[in-house]
Amino acid sequence: MNIIFLGAPGAGKGTQAEIVSEKLAIPTVSTGNIIRAALKNGTEMGLKAKSFIDAGQLVPDDVVIGIIQERLSQDDCANGFILDGFPRTIPQAEALDEMGIRIDKVIDIDVADEAIVGRLSGRRVCKACGNSYHLEYKKPAVDGVCDACGGELIQRADDAPETVLNRLHVYHEQTEPLKSYYASKGKLVTVKGQEHVEDTTALTLRALEDEA
Ligand code: AMP
Repeated sequence: MNIIFLGAPGAGKGTQAEIVSEKLAIPTVSTGNIIRAALKNGTEMGLKAKSFIDAGQLVPDDVVIGIIQERLSQDDCANGFILDGFPRTIPQAEALDEMGIRIDKVIDIDVADEAIVGRLSGRRVCKACGNSYHLEYKKPAVDGVCDACGGELIQRADDAPETVLNRLHVYHEQTEPLKSYYASKGKLVTVKGQEHVEDTTALTLRALEDEA
C-alpha cells in the first residue's frame, strides 16, 4: 500500500506515519528527515536547503523531487511506503504521477491553525534518530531522552514561533491545494486530529481499513 500523509506542520502526520509504518511493515519516507540528515552531514544538497528551511520556506521542487525519486527506487519501498511531508506542492504531486507511482490513499490530518502553534512549541525531536515527541501529548519515558535510541531530545530551530507562522502561511498557499488534487482522484480521507495521539491513531487506522 502506498500512502501519503498530508497536513499542516505540527498536525501530527509524522507520528501517525511512523505508527502505520510499523503496523504495515513498510517504510516511512520523510523528506524533512532526509533534508535534515543531509544538513547535519554537510552535503551539497543540505547546504542548498539550509536557507529555505531556516526561513520556513519550501526547498525548491527539483531538489525534493530528486530526493524522492532516488529514495523510492530503493528495495525497501517495493512493497509499499508512506510519504510524510511529500508532496507539498502540485508540481511535486504531478512529478509522482509522472514517475508512474500509484498512490492508494491520502490521509489528511486536519488540525485548526490555532492549535498548531501550541503543538509545535511543545514538540521535541531526537537529535540522533529524528523521532518526534511532545512535552504534553507524547512524552518520552525519561525526560529529554529518546525512547527509541537514547539520543538527546531538542527543539527544532524551525519550530520557533516566528518561523511557524511562516510555515503555516506556506502550507495554506502551496500545500493545501493538494487536498482538492487528491479528492478529485477519489484518494483523500480526512482524519480530525485529536488532542491525544492514540485517539488520532484509532481514527487513522479506521480510515485505512474502511478505505482499503
Ligand atoms: P518537515 O520536517 O516535513 O516539516 O520539513 C522541514 C522543512 O524541510 C520544511 O519546512 C521545508 O523547508 C523542507 N521540506 C521538507 N519536505 C519538503 C517538500 N516536500 N518540499 C519542499 N520543502 C520540503
